[in-house]
Amino acid sequence: MNTKQIKEAIRQEFAWPGGYRIFLVTDDGGTLCCDCARKEYRQIVWDKLNRCSTGWNIEGMFLDCDTDEPIYCDHCNKIFAPSCMTDEELQDYLEHPEVEK
Ligand SMILES: [Zn+2]
Repeated sequence: MNTKQIKEAIRQEFAWPGGYRIFLVTDDGGTLCCDCARKEYRQIVWDKLNRCSTGWNIEGMFLDCDTDEPIYCDHCNKIFAPSCMTDEELQDYLEHPEVEK
């Protein structure tokens, strides 16, 4: 992804059509929510411009419909429910992670 694509993604936060929440993936496999990406946008751009990775080099993005596992942001540690899960189901999942549904 280039900086223009990243900027568009974090500005939207939700993909259209579908309304799915957008998450960014760094080249070291980290996940970033759009909130953090907006806050740390300067670092993201810096990594891109300098072609290096200080942990903010965004490689791609995915949507919350691409997974059925809860999504953790590696920066703020917030947990997001994938689109197939309600917040109650997410809560349930976190409280009983070993139960297969
Ligand atoms: Zn975050």
